Amino acid sequence: MLQNAQYDTIMREYNRRQLHNRQRQQEHIEEIYQKLPAIRKIDQSVAALTLEKTKALLAGASNGTADLKESIRTLSAKRRRLLMEEGYPEDYLDMQYTCPRCQDTGYVGNEKCLCFKKAALELLYAQSNLGEILEKENFAHFSFRYYSATIKNEATGLNAYQTALLAVEKAKNFIGQFGSSFQNLFLYGDTGVGKTFLSHCIAKELLDQAYWVVYFTAFDLFDLFARRTFDRDEEAAPWMDSVFSCDLLIIDDLGTELTNSFVSSQLFLCVNERLMRQKSTLISTNLGIRQFSDTYSERTFSRIASNYEMIKLIGQDIRKQKTLSGGYDYGTGQQ
Ligand SMILES: [Zn+2]
Repeated sequence: MLQNAQYDTIMREYNRRQLHNRQRQQEHIEEIYQKLPAIRKIDQSVAALTLEKTKALLAGASNGTADLKESIRTLSAKRRRLLMEEGYPEDYLDMQYTCPRCQDTGYVGNEKCLCFKKAALELLYAQSNLGEILEKENFAHFSFRYYSATIKNEATGLNAYQTALLAVEKAKNFIGQFGSSFQNLFLYGDTGVGKTFLSHCIAKELLDQAYWVVYFTAFDLFDLFARRTFDRDEEAAPWMDSVFSCDLLIIDDLGTELTNSFVSSQLFLCVNERLMRQKSTLISTNLGIRQFSDTYSERTFSRIASNYEMIKLIGQDIRKQKTLSGGYDYGTGQQ
C-alpha cells in the first residue's frame, strides 16, 4: 500500500494545514484585541485565574478546580457575547480546522481519518500516469456491443463476444484476489480490441482500493530506463522506484516501441525483478505469442508464460467501429 515517501507527503500536507490554521487564528486574535480590548482583558483574567489555581494545587490545596471552571465558563460566555455584539461569529477566535473530525492530524485515535484516505487516493491517482482518463475508461463504461458474435477464435471455439466476457471475468477475478494472491496478466490481441481500455478498468478498481498502480506505455517505460541508464537523469529516479515497487505496474502496448537489445534486456530485468518482489504486472501487446518470444527473447517469454494469466481479445477495431458509427457512443451496454 502506501510507501514511506507517500505517507510523508501526506503528513507534510497536514503540517502545512495546521500551521496555516494556527496563523489564521493568531491573526483573528490580534485583530480582536485591537478592536475589543475588553476581550484581551478577559483572556488575561482567564490566564491569571488558571495560574493562580495551578499554584494553589501544587502547594497542596485540595479543593479541586470546580470554582475555576465556573469562573472560566462565565468569562467565556461574556467573551462570546462581546464578539457577537460586534457582528463576529461566536467561534471567531477558535481554531478553525480544515477537518474537524481529526483536527488536521490525519488520525482519529489510532484510526486513519476519512480525510487521510481521501488524500491517499488523490496522491495515488496523481502518481498513476492515468488520472482523468479513468473517469471515462472504467467498468461502468465498458461495452460488450463492440464484440461481434460472428468473429471466432478457432483455437478456443469462442466468438469475440464470448471471449470478451471471459476476459472481463478474468479481470474481475484478478481484482477480487488482488492483495491476497499474487497474479499477473498478459493481455494480447490485435490493435483496437480493447486491451488498453480493459487495463484502465482494472487500474481504476485497484486505485479506488488505495493500491499503488502505475501506468506506462512501453515507449515511455523504456524511455525512462534509457534516461536513467545513459543520461543518469536524476528526475527518473523516483519513477524507477515506482516501476519496481508499485503494487501494479501496467506496461501498455508492448511491441510499439523501438525494440533493440537494451529494451529486451530491460524488459527481462523489470519482469524478473517484479516477480521476485511478488509485485503484480499487467502487460498488453499487439504481438502474437510467437512474435513476442522472437522479439524479447525466449527467457523473458518463459518467465511470463509460467507466471502470467494469458488473456487474448479478438474482434474488429473498436476505434474504427466508433468512427464508422459517426462517433455515436453505443452507451454502456454492460451485460
Ligand atoms: Zn480528518
